[in-house]
Amino acid sequence: MFLRELTASLDRVKGAGPAKIKPFLNMGIHNVGRLLCHYPRDWEDRSRPVPLRDFDRGTVCTVVTVVSNVLAQLGRMKTLKVYIADETARAVLVCFNRPFLEKQLVPGNRYRIFGSFSYKYGELQSTSFEFEAAGEGAAETNFFRILPVYPLSAGLTQNYVRAIMRNALRQYAAPLENELPASIIKRDNLLSKADALNTIHFPRTISELELAKKTLIYEELFYLEIIVGKRSLERKSLGSGGAAHSGAARYAADGEKTPLQKRLLERLPFALTKGQEAALRDINRDMDGACPMARLLQGDVGSGKTLVSFLAALKAVDFGAQAAIMAPTELLAQQHADNAARLLEPLGIRVAFLTGNIKTSGRNQLLRSLAAGDIDIILGTHALFSNNVVYKKLSLVVIDEQHRFGVTQRQAILAKGERCDLLMMSATPIPRTLALTVFGDMDISVIPDLPPGRKPIATHLARESNEKKVYDFVRRELEQGRQAYFVYPLIEGGGDERPGELIQQTLKDAESMAARLAKEVFPGIPLALVHSRIDEEQKKRIMESFRTGVTKILVATSVVEVGVDVPNAACMVIEHAERFGLSALHQLRGRVGRGEAQSFCFLVYSDELTEDGKQRLKVMLENSDGFMIAEEDLKLRGPGQIAGTEQSGYLKLGIADPVRDAAELARARVDAFAILEADPGLLLPENLCIGAVLRRAPPFSDAGV
Ligand code: ADP
Ligand code: MG
Repeated sequence: MFLRELTASLDRVKGAGPAKIKPFLNMGIHNVGRLLCHYPRDWEDRSRPVPLRDFDRGTVCTVVTVVSNVLAQLGRMKTLKVYIADETARAVLVCFNRPFLEKQLVPGNRYRIFGSFSYKYGELQSTSFEFEAAGEGAAETNFFRILPVYPLSAGLTQNYVRAIMRNALRQYAAPLENELPASIIKRDNLLSKADALNTIHFPRTISELELAKKTLIYEELFYLEIIVGKRSLERKSLGSGGAAHSGAARYAADGEKTPLQKRLLERLPFALTKGQEAALRDINRDMDGACPMARLLQGDVGSGKTLVSFLAALKAVDFGAQAAIMAPTELLAQQHADNAARLLEPLGIRVAFLTGNIKTSGRNQLLRSLAAGDIDIILGTHALFSNNVVYKKLSLVVIDEQHRFGVTQRQAILAKGERCDLLMMSATPIPRTLALTVFGDMDISVIPDLPPGRKPIATHLARESNEKKVYDFVRRELEQGRQAYFVYPLIEGGGDERPGELIQQTLKDAESMAARLAKEVFPGIPLALVHSRIDEEQKKRIMESFRTGVTKILVATSVVEVGVDVPNAACMVIEHAERFGLSALHQLRGRVGRGEAQSFCFLVYSDELTEDGKQRLKVMLENSDGFMIAEEDLKLRGPGQIAGTEQSGYLKLGIADPVRDAAELARARVDAFAILEADPGLLLPENLCIGAVLRRAPPFSDAGV
């Protein structure tokens, strides 16, 4: 029997009655199989006895005899004091507010004790201790062993979960079959499934625990890579999407450019960078290749990914098919659409723009044209893939800045066409180890260079109390004809975009700062405010006015974070910079430095700064390379926090950590791919239960985009 087949309900476990299993259900633990892979989050080592005499070498763990009980007057209270002794010393348990312990700690009887002791008032004392009667139930004892510490939910205690887990293991673990191939278990000296489970919960020694962890981590990573590998095999077995499918001419001469691509490039006032050229060659080869493209295009902010995606779209049009380009926000989608209209319409390409905000009559007309094939390239938000949107012949989907997209969502999108090519673009560099997991089934191109002539952005830190100097500097830049962004963590005072965090009254917010900057700091200079609560139509007008240089100052929240491109904007002022994450700071800073002029980024921080905030600002000051910043981010925050893993709706690993366990991951990948190669038809159980819970992503229409 495999763990995933342990679907017995929890109340079959001794001690877990129907009334008691609710808190487990709340944690998503609905059967015995899931319970057994509810791994401890930590272990408390009580395995070595620590006698009273050694109280200063760790938490005392010993067997004592109760000598006597007294009710002593301590201050105004009468408090129970229990005198105890082991072979090495005498001590006293001070039972504040626990007079009832008098009946449980009986003079003459022996008890196991666990607690921290110290010398006070001439006595060796403990006020915080656990105890149990010695003699009975030695197998169940929480003393003299390594104890699991579990993630809990309301209504559960550590001891209760421990007891249930012990019973579940006793009833169900022994017959479990191994998930890993026997050859791997033997090669790496891993534990059997049953031993690994018993040990991860109740290890006898620390070295045994390490082996159990190693086994279960490898098992998760192995299956993860089996899943990733299968997906990539499936794609490769699909056969060609674009070229061959459409029956149009192929341009397969090693990634050579198509006629439309050449025409666009001829019209541009600049040449592609080396990185863009290489990425385009990869894409052209993929689109001509034998199976649909699944490529992730990574390039730092400003590296010119949009243009590459337009070129890819032109190739689809050259085939006589359609392309859809999706951006995460209306603002960006609009900007892409404007650029597409400017660059592509002169070539005779029919470009359209679709978001959820485009209303009925125009929308129906647009959808009809799309279905009739009268639109070549459509740009928009996730509305592009709503249920009622039908394409005549969609052969390329581009997803911009959406690394939060899980695999299931990707598949829903691709289903709008037949064997669609997929290009995902991201400026948030994904460290290699994560790329192997979240994007493990995709090929990757990187644009390592920026267009020539870009000057590095000068980054400065400034204390909040020095804000005037920053404002004066920006004023001089504005007088030179430049434009500026001011970014704040909050839209308005008191309303926090990040719930659960303590707000100080002194925090600056976008709304009141827009008013203050307009009135006191930059009177007479055209200024506008933009944030997520502003109506889309108005947002569009504001951005247009900033893009064309009518508005000089844009006050914003992090809505300007991704992709907004206004080359004349040379100043970025981020106030309360310490409240932004590293990747957000990097994205925000990337909004400037896009034109000829020297650009500046001011990170203005509050006078009281946490250690963590200080670290982040330091990273920003010392690094400009997005990949370096992403690596630093990973170090500071851990992988769980990196955009794209937790929110990916794709994987939640139980015990493995693709960053910490990078070496294991690489090995597991080799093993998994070798096994798939030998047996491509390898069947994966639907309900694979390996601790790694493959979460079902929400249906696409509900996706939080
Ligand atoms: P990102 O990769 O951040 O999405 P964009 O596609 O927004 O970058 O490009 C940034 C800017 O660089 C745009 O104004 C674009 O027109 C310009 N650009 C793109 N490629 C080149 C190039 N090869 N040479 C000069 N400028 C370029
Ligand atoms: Mg972009």
